[in-house]
Order: sequence, then structure tokens, then C-alpha cells
Amino acid sequence: MLSVRSTVSEEIQEIIIIGSGPAGYTAGLYAARAMLEPLMFGGYMSGGQLMLTSDIENFPGYPEGIGGPEMMVQLREQAERFGLTVEDKNVERVDFSERPFKIYVEGEEFLAKSVIISTGAEAIWLGAEGEEAQKGRGISVCATCDGAFFRNEEVMVIGGGDSAMEEATFLTRFADKVTIINRRDVFRASKVMYDRANANPKIEIIPHRQVTRWLSDEKGLTGAILEDPRDGSETEITVTGAFIAIGHKPITAFLDDQIDTDEEGYILHSEHTMTNVPGVFAAGDVVDTRYRQAVTAAGMGCQAAMDAEKWLEEHN
Ligand code: NDP
Repeated sequence: MLSVRSTVSEEIQEIIIIGSGPAGYTAGLYAARAMLEPLMFGGYMSGGQLMLTSDIENFPGYPEGIGGPEMMVQLREQAERFGLTVEDKNVERVDFSERPFKIYVEGEEFLAKSVIISTGAEAIWLGAEGEEAQKGRGISVCATCDGAFFRNEEVMVIGGGDSAMEEATFLTRFADKVTIINRRDVFRASKVMYDRANANPKIEIIPHRQVTRWLSDEKGLTGAILEDPRDGSETEITVTGAFIAIGHKPITAFLDDQIDTDEEGYILHSEHTMTNVPGVFAAGDVVDTRYRQAVTAAGMGCQAAMDAEKWLEEHN
């Protein structure tokens, strides 16, 4: 059940949470239990990347696994039970130049003493023909999440960076064969990661290939048409799973450079989970270039809420 509070701009919230993945909901749970009456703007597609995952088998506490969307509903309900208010709206922009901070949402202005940014990162998809319909039905952007569904099958990984090498190597635990395709013969992957993948007898690496069209039947993915960008010639590959590993991008454009980030846009912490703007905290994949797991995001969400609570105590 969604709860919606009246959006009176003069009201100053103790804490506004932007983004509703595991980091945001966990921050909301802790902030609500600290009686801070947190308000969350969860985005139009609340729940984040796990809404795209079928089964989560590596979040502690679920011996049988749990569906990604189902887990997000449960995290939300748990936080709402303690007083988190969630609005499924996108934050358009923020003004962190003075306190209280200003958050602009669908033409309305909200004021907050503290803010937690947990907008996550989004995997970059290829956008090839037929992709939308096969997302979650054979085409994935997370081998850790979905690799185990391809036991004894043949799968493909797209990309030539460390992510592609790592995902392909991980997938050999399950799949009979993993084909890595890269659009060039130059690989961004570190030598050690490339060599490890290249030495794996289950992995074949094919340069100069780009997916132009996904192939499917009523059960899901069946393969893809690959193009050689050098001469436009086409070949067909038969796979039941495909993992796109061409990079992630953090969701930070709405911050308009008011928060320090690294060169790829990931938010930098300056003190514990606090950003360069005192009173603004960040948690989850919007910060994390390394682990990118639901459980690590949830853990950081907890840290951010505890840091925000302490900061509010000291600055109220
Ligand atoms: P990278 O940017 O390193 O590599 C992206 C790859 O995807 C490149 O081969 C690129 O090709 C290709 N690509 C990009 N766009 C497209 C497209 N539209 N179609 C086809 N191919 C495309 O991203 P990663 O996610 O691999 O790595 C990001 C960072 O994270 C790196 O710094 C990496 O070292 C790090 N990382 C480290 C790991 C570890 O150490 N364990 C594991 C995973 C990541 P092209 O070169 O032609 O642009």
C-alpha cells in the first residue's frame, strides 16, 4: 500500500532519500526507525535494477531464493511499516547550495535538512533489434544474478573490458560454452583478466563482432545475428543466454555537478558515507564501482542512514 504525504513546500523534512533500490530502502528503514520520518522519491520505476532480475539467490536470509521484484516490495513494506513515505516520482534537479536543501520533483519544491542519494547505476544495454522483449528472458546484464539459470547451456558475453572477462569466467561454472564477442580486436580488459578468460577451455573469444539482431522463439532467446563491423558481413550464433557487459553508468545527471564524482560520474565519499556537501550522503551502486551487489548496497544504505542521523543530531 503506497502512502502519500501532502507536499507542502514550507515543511522541512529531516531527511529525503532519492532512489529506491536496496540501498534506499535500507536507509529508509533505519531512518524511519530513528523517528526521522523519512520521505523517499523512488522514481517512476521504483525498486532499481533488481526489478529486472528474476531470482536472487545470494541475498542472505532467503534459503530458497526470492524474485527481485518481490524482494523490493518486501523491503519497501518493511520500511513503510516504520514510517517511510515513498512517492514514485523522479527527482528532476536539486539545489544543495544552501540549507535546507531543495529537491525539485514534478514542478514542486521540497526542503530537507539532510539527503541520501541512492539512485544506483544502470547497466548500459546494447539496444539491438529484439532486445526489449528478451530482457530477463535470456538477455541479462548481470552474470552473478542470472548465470546459474544457464547450467549446461551455451551463452554469449558482449564486451571486451574487465566486466566481460569476469562475467565470462564466472559463467563457465554453469554453462558448457561461453563465447565472448567484442566489436574490435583491441580489448580494454587488463591483461591478467583477458589471459584468464582466454586460457579457459570453455571460453571462445571472437573479435570484430557486434550484435545487430536478437533471435528468439516462444521459450526465449535462441541466438543472435552478428555483424563484422569491418565489412558488414553477417553470421549467426546459437545461444540461450546473452550477457551484455559493456559498462554501467551511475544515475547522477540530476545532480548537475553539485556533488563531487569520479571521472565516470560515481559519487565520491568525503567522510564515511557523506559527500563533499555536508548533510548529503550517498549509498549503493551510485557510489560503488567494485561490488555492485544487493547486499552491499543494503549495507551501505544502513551506514548512510546512521551517518545522517548522527549528523542531524550534531547540526540540528
Ligand atoms: P569498460 O569500459 O572497460 O569496457 C567496455 C567494453 O564494452 C569495451 O570493450 C567496449 O568496446 C565495449 N562497448 C562499449 N559500448 C559498446 C557497444 N555499444 N557495443 C559493443 N561494445 C561496446 O567497462 P567494464 O564494465 O568492463 O569495466 C569498467 C571498469 O570497472 C574498468 O575500469 C574495469 O577495469 C573495472 N572492472 C574491474 C574488475 C576487476 O578488476 N575485477 C571487474 C570488472 C570491472 P570499445 O573498447 O570498442 O569501446
